[in-house]
Amino acid sequence: MVQKTAIIIGAGPAGIGLNIALNQFGIRDTLILEKSDIGSSFEKWPSSTRFITPSFTTNGFGMPDINAITPDTSPGFTFKEEHLNGQSYQKYLKAITDIYKIKIHTKTLVTNVNTHTNGYVITTNKGNFTCKYLFIATGDFSFPHKPFEFGQHYTEINDFKNIKSQDVTIIGANESGIDAAINLAKLGKKVTIISKSTGFNGNVADPSISLSPYTNERFKQVLNDGYPIRLLINRTVTNVEKCIEGYRLSINEQTDEHITEEIIQATGFRPAMNPLIQSLFETNQHIVKLTNDDESTIFKNTFLVGSTVEHDTAILCYIYKFRARFAVLANLVAHREDIVVSEEIIDYYKQNQMYLDDYNCCEVNCSC
Ligand SMILES: Cc1cc2nc3c(=O)[nH]c(=O)nc-3n(C[C@H](O)[C@H](O)[C@H](O)COP(=O)(O)OP(=O)(O)OC[C@H]3O[C@@H](n4cnc5c(N)ncnc54)[C@H](O)[C@@H]3O)c2cc1C
Repeated sequence: MVQKTAIIIGAGPAGIGLNIALNQFGIRDTLILEKSDIGSSFEKWPSSTRFITPSFTTNGFGMPDINAITPDTSPGFTFKEEHLNGQSYQKYLKAITDIYKIKIHTKTLVTNVNTHTNGYVITTNKGNFTCKYLFIATGDFSFPHKPFEFGQHYTEINDFKNIKSQDVTIIGANESGIDAAINLAKLGKKVTIISKSTGFNGNVADPSISLSPYTNERFKQVLNDGYPIRLLINRTVTNVEKCIEGYRLSINEQTDEHITEEIIQATGFRPAMNPLIQSLFETNQHIVKLTNDDESTIFKNTFLVGSTVEHDTAILCYIYKFRARFAVLANLVAHREDIVVSEEIIDYYKQNQMYLDDYNCCEVNCSC
C-alpha cells in the first residue's frame, strides 16, 4: 500500500496548482491520482471551444496571467494566444507538471475512500493508497447534468461539424448554450435556444452568473450578421419525447410545444452528485457544505478544491478565482504539520493576488 502525507484526486488545474503550493509550503510527500490523463477535461472540450477568460502576460505587476495556476507561468506567453483552446491548455498543464516535477498516477480511478486511524484509505483500480490529508479536485466536467433522455450534452460534442441535422434546439442559454448556438449558426444550421434565463446582456457584474464579455460579443455579432437564431427565454422544458420529425419538447408544463430534429442539452453540471463528494461531504441540494477553510464538515483533513467550491459570497468556478485558495490551504496544512513556513513564500502568493483568506471580500460590484 502506497502511503503519502497528502493525496489529491484529480489532475486538472486545481489539483496540479494545489500540489505545487503544497510542495512550496514544505509538504513534499504528495501524490495526485487521476482517472484519465493530465488535464483530461480540457482535452474533451469541443474542438472549437476557447477560453472565455483572456490570457495576457500580465505577470510581474501583481497580476499573473488570469489562466495561470502559478504566479510565474503564463499560458498566453507559451501559446501566443489570447483565448486558448482546450488542447493548448492541456499542454500548459502537462508542461507545468514537468517543470515542477509533480508526481501523478494517471489512469488511476478512485472508486472509494474510507477512514482509518490516522487518515484515509483510498481504493483505486491500481490498488490502495493511504494519506493523512485528502484533497478532492475532481471538477465539474466529469459530472454533466443531463435532465433528459434524448439529445447530447454539450460535453459529449467533440466537434459541432459532426451534427448533421439542420434544425437544432439547444436547452440552456448560458456560456455553453450560447457557444453551441454560435458554432451551429455559423455552420448554417437553424438554431433555437430555449431557457429559463440567460446571462446574455445581463446586468449582474459577477461573470460566474452573467455571460462573459467574450461570449456576449460573439453572440451579438452573429445576431447582427443575421444568422437564424431564435432565443426563447422564460421557458422551462419539462419533457422531451421522440416523434416522426425528431423530438417534441413540452414547455412550461405542456402549455407550449416545440418540434426539432436534434437537441443539445447545455444544462450545466452536478458535481455534488459525485459519489466521492457524497461520501465525504455534507451536501445541500447541489451545493457542497464546507467550513471557511473549504474543509469537510464531517471529515477532518478532507478538503474540496477547484471549481466546485462555493460559499455564499463566492462561486469559484473560474481558474483565477480558485487558484487564490492553493497557498491558503497549503499554509493551513503546514501549520497542522508544525512546518515553519517562510514569510517570503506567503508574501509571494499575496503579492500575486493568489492568497484569498477571507471570502467576505469577493462580492463583485462594478459601478460602470
Ligand atoms: C466549455 C468550458 C469552457 C470553460 N472556459 C473557462 C474559461 O475560459 N476560464 C476559466 O477559468 N474556466 C473555464 N471553464 C471552467 C474550467 O474548465 C474549470 O473551472 C476547470 O476545469 C476546473 O478545474 P478542476 O481542476 O477543478 O477540474 P477538472 O479540470 O475537470 O479536473 C478534474 C480531474 O479530476 C479527474 N477525476 C474525476 N473523478 C475522478 C476519480 N474518481 N478518480 C480520479 N480522477 C478523477 C478528471 O478526470 C479530471 O482530470 C470552462 C469550462 C467549460 C466546460
